[in-house]
Amino acid sequence: MVSSVRILVVEDEPKVAKAVREGLERESYTVTVCHTGEDGFFLLSTETFDLVVLDVMLPGRSGIEILETLRRQGSQLPVLLLTARDTVEDRVAGLDAGADDYLVKPFAFAELLARIRALLRRAKTEIVGTLRLVDLEMDVLSRTVKRGGAPIDLTAREFELLEYLLRHQGEAVSRDMLVRDVWKEPLRPTPLDNVIDVHMVRLRRKVDEGFETKLVHTLRGVGFTLRAETA
Ligand code: CA
Repeated sequence: MVSSVRILVVEDEPKVAKAVREGLERESYTVTVCHTGEDGFFLLSTETFDLVVLDVMLPGRSGIEILETLRRQGSQLPVLLLTARDTVEDRVAGLDAGADDYLVKPFAFAELLARIRALLRRAKTEIVGTLRLVDLEMDVLSRTVKRGGAPIDLTAREFELLEYLLRHQGEAVSRDMLVRDVWKEPLRPTPLDNVIDVHMVRLRRKVDEGFETKLVHTLRGVGFTLRAETA
């Protein structure tokens, strides 16, 4: 059985990358591997993952830089950092940048697996309750949304749409994903693109109008993303 859990591994040492890929695939995770910080960052901004295993020392953009950018954009994607050095400074830098966990090389594969399982479990339990991005707050149980403390009135569909974007904040969300997961009509004879775009325009107006920091963004040729950006 192929797992729907998608893991991105950003690691420039071919041997380590290969071992991690093979090990994770044996556990039925869906694994994408890349070898530079640039590629890692590109994949994170264009595809959806459930967890990232991120090497700190990478050619080009470092793991810490990637992590800082992700968190600044509001992504809550679980990130497990890999480092070659075990120093207090490294640990502090990683955790300050928003890492969820930390593993020093060389590590036992069983330990990597255990940490990944723990992070995925934690991410799952955080699914209920309140979803947040900067000053935007959604209470999933009472189905209320506020921005800067002021209530936002949403239709049922707009609420579902925003909830989906909040759960995937900082990630690229395609129209296909919205058709499948929000509209739940993947087999509709006519495309829903126009319907989706109209809803996104309305949602953007309700969420962003009057605020300097914009949260709802169109990614040309890709879809949409929810992240904090000051114009
Ligand atoms: Ca490295």
